[in-house]
Order: sequence, then structure tokens, then C-alpha cells
Amino acid sequence: MLLKSSIDDLKKIIKQENILSNMEERFCYAEDSANIKEQNALPDIVIFVETIEDVQNVLKYANAHNIPVTSRGAGTNTVGSCVPVQGGIILNFSKMNKILDFNPTDMTMRVQPGVILNDIKKLAESEKLFYPPDPSNFKVSTIGGSIAQSSGGAKSFKYGTTKDYILSLKVVLPDGVLMKIGSGTIKDAVGYHLNQLIIGSEGTLAIVVEAQLKLIPLPETSAVVTAYFNDYESATNAVSGIIKERIFPATIDFMDKNSINTVERFYPSGLKTDKECMLLVEVDGFETSMKSQLYRVEKALLENGAVDVTSVSDKEKMEAVWTARRASYGAAAKLAPDVVTDDVIVPRSSLSKMVRGCKDICEKHNLQVCIVGHVGDGNVHPQIVLNLENDEEFKHLTDAKAEIYQLACSLGGTISAEHGVGIEKMNYIDKILDSASIEYMKRIKNVFDPNGILNPGKILK
Ligand SMILES: Cc1cc2nc3c(=O)[nH]c(=O)nc-3n(C[C@H](O)[C@H](O)[C@H](O)COP(=O)(O)OP(=O)(O)OC[C@H]3O[C@@H](n4cnc5c(N)ncnc54)[C@H](O)[C@@H]3O)c2cc1C
Repeated sequence: MLLKSSIDDLKKIIKQENILSNMEERFCYAEDSANIKEQNALPDIVIFVETIEDVQNVLKYANAHNIPVTSRGAGTNTVGSCVPVQGGIILNFSKMNKILDFNPTDMTMRVQPGVILNDIKKLAESEKLFYPPDPSNFKVSTIGGSIAQSSGGAKSFKYGTTKDYILSLKVVLPDGVLMKIGSGTIKDAVGYHLNQLIIGSEGTLAIVVEAQLKLIPLPETSAVVTAYFNDYESATNAVSGIIKERIFPATIDFMDKNSINTVERFYPSGLKTDKECMLLVEVDGFETSMKSQLYRVEKALLENGAVDVTSVSDKEKMEAVWTARRASYGAAAKLAPDVVTDDVIVPRSSLSKMVRGCKDICEKHNLQVCIVGHVGDGNVHPQIVLNLENDEEFKHLTDAKAEIYQLACSLGGTISAEHGVGIEKMNYIDKILDSASIEYMKRIKNVFDPNGILNPGKILK
């Protein structure tokens, strides 16, 4: 609990209109999309920063007085990463939402951390350029949050994740020092790659106040193939079949029957509800390559047991397919008071074991689950629906998650592909990282943030 004198001091540093300190206002910042209910997670004050100097001034004060600081973009991460478990200050970046520079010749864009991903994508597209990272909720999530989580999404299969599109960063360190990392050039071999350390660090090492993004040419055209299967094994074999064709789809995504039925129940989209699962494969590239790419994808799907294969290349129809896929989380959320999504990843050769394992484990624990995933990467998202306030269901969830993580590890995978650790996976991190790695991560945290004020209680215990 912050002293009143500290709140008064902060009110002198930051404009009054950029501060929230009433209980009902602060309460909105106690949770994020992880649905984790932490008892003491209530910020003492919420500060809307407008400038880099605002961030520097707040951090300098917080560091001198040992006050926790948790950054918040759109609050859409699914691991409790911006839940202020020790109270203190929430830094809200929604007013630092400007695109500072767009250089189509160099194919770069310089942005403030509160810019929404969709705005970056739309501006890039106006010059036939492309910013590929696309977490399914890119219409609301911010670049600052994306950098902090190293967000991926459906297109990671071909295009990689956020970490592949950051040329340079400006960050503020806990003592208020502004640090520029990376030169902004396409290649840079000078010194340690601190950029890569900050990306994915969930706001625990430094605060991102500006980013220079790499853009690539927008593919000339694209098409989406949907294919239905009567069993998981055929669908996951088809993923390998497509890869054997040595073509590189932008996306290979998956929906199981429960997901399909749930989307059709709440957001009817014309998906077929009588099959066990479906794959959504997007190919892109030059117009002249499309016929042969589509032929090879469809061939691989049919050879591996797809029973219904359709392709669409009309923009509106493609968007309708993706809207249905993106609706899976929202639709699942309508089945019960809460939905908890997970994010395991395994080598592609073990995909069917992972998907079936998620289903069997949830069934064993009487939990309803809708399974989706970016299966081209081996990434599976079981969306478990339940009432978190029901103690018995919560216990089942905890047990099921532990079993799902154990299975992922036993199959040579890991417990998070793209959502991060936050609070959600802290207790499992020692199952996946060796003690030397954990020790070095702790030392790195200590070098950046010796007083431990940045997003405490996350990633490492
Ligand atoms: C329906 C749904 C679908 C999703 N699909 C995907 C998906 O396909 N792929 C994927 O990878 N993720 C996905 N996610 C997760 C989510 O999109 C990402 O984690 C997201 O990019 C976070 O952005 P945000 O603005 O909401 O950040 P927040 O949730 O507000 O914050 C995330 C983290 O970033 C830190 N942070 C925020 N701003 C800064 C800053 N300026 N400096 C330092 N740290 C900062 C916060 O402290 C926190 O640790 C999905 C989430 C939902 C709800």
C-alpha cells in the first residue's frame, strides 16, 4: 500500500488529468485477460504517461522509494503478466500511441508503445508493406505489450514472431536512464543483442518507450484452404504432408469439433459441424505461384484423409474464415463464466499426441475444452471453460494444466510458445529450464533492476 505522501508526490510529477487514484478506477487494473484472481492485486495509482520524460520521472521516483511499477498495454495477455501483484504503480501507455515515422524506402516504422498492432498493419499496407506478427487479437493489442510478450500468432509459421521485426528500441531503465538499443539497420553486429533480451521480458527488465520496426513487402496475393478431417491423426499427418511438399504456407491453423461447434453456436460462420476437426491453410506470394501452391496444399490434404477441401481467394470470404477462427476464444468464453487458454508447443511429429492428450486430460478432469492452435508451428491452445470460483473446478484445472505441461515436456516441447510466463506459469518454469539458466536469468534481472521494482512477481520466483 502506497503512502499518501508518495501519491501526492506523483501527482506533482504527472498532470492531474493523467492520474487515476479512486478505488473503482484502480479496480479495473487488478486483472488482465488471464482471468487470474490475485487477492492483493490492486494498484495504488494508475498513471497515463504521455512522454518519455513522464516515464523517466515516474521510474526515478519509484526506484528511489521501492515502489513496484507494472506496465500495461491493452491488458490482453493471457498469463497475468500485467496484474500488479504487489500493488504500486500501473503505467498506462494508451496516450503514447503515435506512429512517429514511416519510411517505405527503408521499410521501417518508428512507433510509440501504445500503438495498436492493427494501425501498424494498415499503414504498412497502404504502401504494400507488411508487419507480419498477428496475435489473434491484433485489432486491440499494443506494440509495447507485443514486444514485452514477443507475440506470435497464426503467421509465425512462415514469418516468425515479434522478435524478428524489431530493429531498435528505446527503453527506460528503473533508475530513469534512457537507453537506445540497436542501430535500426537491417544487420547489426555490434556488441550483445540487448534487444533480444528485452523482447519477451514481460516488462521486468526495462520499459519500452519507442520501437523501430522492420517491415517486409506485402505478399501480392493470398488464398485460404479449409479442410475437414474425421480424426486428429489425419489432420496432423496432413500438416507434415504439406511440409513434405516443400512449400511454405503463411499459416497452418487448427480447430477441433468443440471449437467449431461453439463458434457456430454463438457466431454462425458457415463452418461444418459434423467433422472431428479442421485445418485452415493460408498460402501467399506472387499471383503466378498461387495455382501451384494451392494444388500442392490440396493434394497433401487429400492424400492425408481430408474429407472436404475448399479454397477461397476473395478477400471478404478469406476474412470471414479468419474471423470465425479468431472468434473461437470469444465463443468459448460464452460457455461458462471463465475461459483459460493455454499455449504448449511440441515438435510437429508429436502434434497428434499433444492434441489428443489435451482432450483426454481435460475429459479425465471433467473440464470442457475447445482446442485450437497454430499447428504449423506445433503450437496447441487448449481453451478450457469453467467457473474459476468453483473450488472443485479450479482444482481440476490446476491438475489438468500440470498434466498438459508434463505431456508437452515429455514430447520434447515446452510450456509456452508465445503467451509467456507471467504469474500463470511461474511455478512450472523449473520443470523446463535447467538451474544454470534460471540462475543466469536471475542475475540478468538483478543487473537491470537491482531493487526489483519492475513488474515484480512475474516469470521468476
Ligand atoms: C483472444 C486472444 C487471442 C490471442 N491470440 C494470441 C496469438 O495468436 N498469439 C500470441 O502470441 N498472443 C496472443 N494473445 C495474447 C496477447 O495478444 C498478447 O500477449 C498481446 O500482444 C499483449 O498485448 P497487450 O497490449 O494487451 O499487452 P498487455 O497484456 O497489456 O501487457 C503484456 C505485457 O507487456 C508488458 N508491457 C506492456 N507495455 C509495455 C511497455 N511499454 N514496456 C514494457 N513492458 C510493457 C506488461 O507489463 C505485460 O507484462 C491473445 C490474447 C487474446 C485475449
